[in-house]
Amino acid sequence: MLFLGLLCGHSFAQNVQKIEPVKFSEVNITDAFWKPKMDKVATTTLQACIVQTEVKTPRIRNFEKVARKQGEKHEGIYFDDSDVYKAMEAMAYSLKNHPDAELEKKTDEWIDKIAAAQLPDGYLNTYYTLNGLQNRWTDMEKHEDYCAGHLIEAAVAYYNTTGKRKFLDVAIRFANHIDETFRLANRPWVSGHQEIELALVKLYRTTKDERYLKLSEWFLNQRGKGNGKGVIWDAWKDPAYCQDAIPVKDQKEITGHAVRAMYLYTGAADVAVNTGDTGYMNAMKTVWEDVVHRNMYITGGIGSSGSNEGFSQDFDLPNENAYCETCASVGMVFWNQRMNALTGESKYIDVLERSLYNGALDGLSLSGDRFFYGNPLASIGRHSRREWFGTACCPSNIARLVASLGDYIYGKSESGIWVNLFVGSNTTIKLRNTEIPTSIETNYPLNGKVKISMNPSSKTKYALHVRIPSWATNVPVAGNLYHYLGNYTTTIAMIVNGKKVDFKTENGYAIIDREWSAGDVVSFELPMDVRKVVARNELKQDNERVALQRGPLVYCVEGIDNEGKAWDFILPDNAKFTEVPQQVLTEPIIAIQTDATTFKPTPDGLGFKPEKKRITAIPYYTWCNRGSGQMQVWLPRKVKSAMVNY
Ligand SMILES: [Zn+2]
Repeated sequence: MLFLGLLCGHSFAQNVQKIEPVKFSEVNITDAFWKPKMDKVATTTLQACIVQTEVKTPRIRNFEKVARKQGEKHEGIYFDDSDVYKAMEAMAYSLKNHPDAELEKKTDEWIDKIAAAQLPDGYLNTYYTLNGLQNRWTDMEKHEDYCAGHLIEAAVAYYNTTGKRKFLDVAIRFANHIDETFRLANRPWVSGHQEIELALVKLYRTTKDERYLKLSEWFLNQRGKGNGKGVIWDAWKDPAYCQDAIPVKDQKEITGHAVRAMYLYTGAADVAVNTGDTGYMNAMKTVWEDVVHRNMYITGGIGSSGSNEGFSQDFDLPNENAYCETCASVGMVFWNQRMNALTGESKYIDVLERSLYNGALDGLSLSGDRFFYGNPLASIGRHSRREWFGTACCPSNIARLVASLGDYIYGKSESGIWVNLFVGSNTTIKLRNTEIPTSIETNYPLNGKVKISMNPSSKTKYALHVRIPSWATNVPVAGNLYHYLGNYTTTIAMIVNGKKVDFKTENGYAIIDREWSAGDVVSFELPMDVRKVVARNELKQDNERVALQRGPLVYCVEGIDNEGKAWDFILPDNAKFTEVPQQVLTEPIIAIQTDATTFKPTPDGLGFKPEKKRITAIPYYTWCNRGSGQMQVWLPRKVKSAMVNY
């Protein structure tokens, strides 16, 4: 294989893709946890995006100015076009599960404006078209290809939902322009903010035109050759900042800007899936271990440092000062889905689920119209959710992720059906020539009961693969970066039509391989007991601390439920937990209550005496929805670690 690889550029492995994810456009979401959030995105979040994009900021006006050709100047930041496209991508996904004629009309209106701003040669970027077209494609850091990537993603999503081609044709013309300008012209170009790589693979899958796959691979191959340079701001002062220090296939460690890294590796995994290039596959696996085993928060967030919006040293994960950008968690969802498709291993979905339900979801307020850019794991009360940001990447990113949830639930392969996430939904999966309507019913993550129903049109033999989450077993999380305190033994029984069945477990999936008939129902229950998690010693900021997890949800203690204070107690190791159904605003949750120890000054003022304090913990993603205040995910176990800022 190695020699073959050397001869032809990459080695084409057979059947390299283990799982083909079922697309959002084929999945109806009915879930009690997610459907209300998707409805909130469809109404409130997207309305906020529309108002910000169209009324409060000049983003849409820039497109109108290009079309008017009256010499008007660009307003805003050079990458603002991307926010328009990301909002449109979210609108496209949302129209699938929440049809809305007004929203579709608005999207079509924007598409007309965007199409009118495209130049005859396919180029489309309001910043350069308004401020000096002669300067286009001269500064690799100016995000032209990044904006193009988001345009392509939006166009593909809108085509998938509506079947309308106009936006897709705009994207195709722009992609062709880029291909002619760079790959065919053999002109070096290193993307300063990766994104176009993964977008081009989506365009390839939609159009089946290999040109876009080749262009995506070309962009990957540009990296690590010393060609990157920014003119106004040189992101390449440290080439590791934009993952350009060494060729992608030789990369072993995560470096630099977290979102750029996630988009790059998603694109690399996409190319590997489609070309079978083992070089990319092996690099991705090694880099993934560096991210997850040494640089990931328990919330699935990444990129601890604000100075480079990215990674610092291994095991450096400050809590209160965590940067942990919402977009980076969204990127973790993308990348891990691709790694799962590539390998058929559930550990990638375990991480995807962790990032989705915690690090990413925390970025969106329960009301749907407030956002976090960074997602800290502790606060003394100085964090608050915001309406919008100058650099507004996060709001539309979390909107498009929630709206596209259907992309992450089911998969299929030659051997059968895969269930990755437990989300109430239905779809029809076609295996060979048999249509198999499949649905999931569950109240996850409030409880762990899951029911999968399948209705093959005729009796069919195939394997059902059900992910057994690593949190449900006693397997250490993230390669032992985190592990459970105490022993949890779990046996998960698989019930088919009311009878317990034997199954084998492979790569983290329970596999039931048999002949299935219409009306077959598989049910099982995941253990939702409260689990205490501790971090490896090297993770200094979490020393002598414990985090609480229930199912996929990481918990935190917030001041508002605890007399305003979340930093005034220690949690004894023998604490017993009570699960209490509650609401945070209108969000139904299971709160965790336990007895902690607080310290009150003695009457003589000379010391402190321990006192019992009943504390309440809530799911991390629900914090800071009732005003700013204290919060902690990692709860101190010893007095000396209790009152320190960390
Ligand atoms: Zn962001």
